Amino acid sequence: MIPFNCPYCVGTEAELIATAFANKSISGDGPFGKKAQIQLEKQLGVKKALLTTSCTHALEMAAILLDLQPGDEVIIPSYTFVSTALAFVMHGATPVFADIRPDTLNIDETKLEILITHRTRAIVVVHYAGVGCEMDTIMDIAKRHNLIVIEDNAHGLYGKYKGKCLGNFGTFATQSFHETKNITCGEGGALLINEQSYIERSEIICEKGTNRSRFFRGEVDKYTWVDKGSSYVLSDILAAFLHAQLNEADKIQIKRKTIWNYYYEHLQDWAITNNIRLPIIPEHCEQAYHMFYLLMPSLETRTNFIKYLKENKIAAVFHYLPLHQSDMGQKLGGKKYNCPVTEDISDRLVRLPFFNDMSEEELNIVTKVVNTF
Ligand SMILES: *Cc1c(COP(=O)(O)O)cnc(C)c1O
Repeated sequence: MIPFNCPYCVGTEAELIATAFANKSISGDGPFGKKAQIQLEKQLGVKKALLTTSCTHALEMAAILLDLQPGDEVIIPSYTFVSTALAFVMHGATPVFADIRPDTLNIDETKLEILITHRTRAIVVVHYAGVGCEMDTIMDIAKRHNLIVIEDNAHGLYGKYKGKCLGNFGTFATQSFHETKNITCGEGGALLINEQSYIERSEIICEKGTNRSRFFRGEVDKYTWVDKGSSYVLSDILAAFLHAQLNEADKIQIKRKTIWNYYYEHLQDWAITNNIRLPIIPEHCEQAYHMFYLLMPSLETRTNFIKYLKENKIAAVFHYLPLHQSDMGQKLGGKKYNCPVTEDISDRLVRLPFFNDMSEEELNIVTKVVNTF
């Protein structure tokens, strides 16, 4: 069986974890955590990166930083992972579900303004498959309505929009280092902060509502409870793992680019003949090579396609079910949202196996089987 995903090790993880033990520092905010944070800041060009236990938790931190009041609304694409909405709902937001563009499957910026009310506080965007949303337009809308933008950049690490790394546009951005992402430490994440004024409070929220970070920098003489927060810091064992992977980021991205290009080249003719749409990457976006998806002509074709691949020992999977139609989404008033593109895409999208050390032989098998469907 060719799996859909397979966790990847660069080879130096165990050695660096052993060093973390030798350092006698395995809790959060240790030597490897500091290294990985600086690495992310340098690689992406962001002001501040804080490692967290997950992307979900980084999104929760962003939600806490918004100081949401009952009735405050946050606009979120319906076509995304649960956490994008969950984190804000957990901290008091009413989610407002937005539809996506039919080309990039990113939040449709042309349909954003009709969703804005006097209660809207923020817009959360997801760079689907690591292809940038229309950030110029989105940031302009946010500025005019005094809204905060949060980029859920779980797919988009190292992707670029108009030459600038994704994660640089919103006030906050979040990364995931879950096993299924380009760079991993098993479970982990990061909050990226682009506005200086939020950095100090972010550190406090990350450290259980205490001023521990300032205390250890010698800026205050007491370490005490000062705000809301939770236990969001990443253990230095996992930070060591992450540091090992971040060191190899260029190589990992090149591997993934090769896989993506192989799929594109070997499926292009088949796609045209069979009315199947391949991913669209706008000229001004450099994608992050997070996934390779196909848009099948119908739900029925997709079901048959996934079954056909399974019979040929290849695991292919569909993706998000629209959040506004989920049980929880319905409880939160999802019925009133009209997201026809989300609903259509959700029925037709399928993802092919995609992992860092996928071999040319495996790619050859997958593309050959797909070509016979
Ligand atoms: C993976 C993912 C998350 C959640 O990441 P965790 O690190 O598992 O919390 C959130 N949003 C999107 C778009 C994702 O793909």
